[in-house]
Amino acid sequence: MQQQADLILQNLYIISFDQQGTVIPDGAIAIKDGVIVGIGPTSEVTAAWDPARRIFGSGQIAIPGLTDAHIHTAQTMMRGLLTTVGASSNLRVPTWREYLVPFEAALTPEDVELSGQLAYSAMLLTGTTSFFEAGGPHPERMAAAAWRTGIRGIVSQSTMDGGDRIPASMRMSTDEAIQRNIDVVEALPAAVDGSNRVTGGMSLRQIITCTPELVRSIHKEAQNRGVKVHTHLVEGTYEIDFSLERYGMRPLEYLINEGVFTETLHCAHSILVGDEDIDNFRHYGATACHCAKGNYSIGHPPALKMWRRGVAIGLGTDGVASLGTLDLFRVAMLARVGQQLVEATPTHNRNGVAAAEPLSMAIIGGSRAMGLAAHTGSLEKGKRADIVLLRTDGPDAAGYASPEAFLYECASGRDVDTVLVDGNIAVSAGQLENVDFHAIRDQVARRQPQLMGAIA
Ligand SMILES: [Zn+2]
Repeated sequence: MQQQADLILQNLYIISFDQQGTVIPDGAIAIKDGVIVGIGPTSEVTAAWDPARRIFGSGQIAIPGLTDAHIHTAQTMMRGLLTTVGASSNLRVPTWREYLVPFEAALTPEDVELSGQLAYSAMLLTGTTSFFEAGGPHPERMAAAAWRTGIRGIVSQSTMDGGDRIPASMRMSTDEAIQRNIDVVEALPAAVDGSNRVTGGMSLRQIITCTPELVRSIHKEAQNRGVKVHTHLVEGTYEIDFSLERYGMRPLEYLINEGVFTETLHCAHSILVGDEDIDNFRHYGATACHCAKGNYSIGHPPALKMWRRGVAIGLGTDGVASLGTLDLFRVAMLARVGQQLVEATPTHNRNGVAAAEPLSMAIIGGSRAMGLAAHTGSLEKGKRADIVLLRTDGPDAAGYASPEAFLYECASGRDVDTVLVDGNIAVSAGQLENVDFHAIRDQVARRQPQLMGAIA
């Protein structure tokens, strides 16, 4: 006898990204209460389940949703600012202090919610189903935008209680910074089983703007609540010099010494790390994120080496501040080229990056980094139904030897047709289901010039 399901997606080429590398050429997925309850050949799944609704894939490729493991939601309306300013004068450095933080300081709560709607819409439309916010102003408004658009995410408050030239509106006392982080987590439901789509995390901007007391306290409060702490790590030589001058240790050593380099800590960028640092990531369980759009202008990030050694490392856009796309497929392609250059070209190895590795980092790596690997990151029975269907009739798809070759080599956000998060349809036929993207764009077009003018 058939069992009831909410939805069946059928006649799909399923690339599951499970540990066995399961591929189902004519496959189907049954979904109930946001969870994948059946997956297998279309004939078997449709025989076993009676759905309230069906979606016919007609040969589209089904994959798990992608995870943006490092995004600055609040910076979304500064798209192109650095390029525009840089064209007319030399950019002041470091750009995070000179432009990014002052921009965030100028935002109203309404601006942040609009930024969230714009960012999460663009992410869903290009196949990203989860995000891990780096920490910014007004995280409660990011959460509101995430709920509304239908994406999964962890939001957090940017925290700085030390350092030079931080705008007054962004600087907090240590106690205030701790309390505001706690408030974000307690205002949102806990991420116990992946079913709470929008949750709160904690954030330390980076070690040069956070006192040791804040670093220790935030880590302890996060551990007590079972949530993660997002930070930037070894994103530039200035950070290493600061750490050596202030603490007599390199940044990782300092964090280990403080007892906070644990699986609670998520370390975006992690560019200037050596072999011993990678061993420490493995040993202590801290997670990482490779942001391929910007990281190669700073160093030779060993992202692939970290991935292959078992570090929980995902891919991130780092928001739109430099290279404005939020399309993680494009980030994965940049990572493939960049990692070839870093890891393989020096030894004249022409195929140093396996085709599936960058996208696997964006899918499985991101889920691990967010602490959600038991619930997302693959298409398997029992996991949350975060699913992307890709068209195979786009301009680059014709003539491919296999769907896998197309997916790993060429697919991008423009090929995304349907997106489900938690079993709910967020994108259908390339259009958002929950929000009016045209209205969001109109609002952004009115507000963005004012914000740009205030900061440039
Ligand atoms: Zn960042």
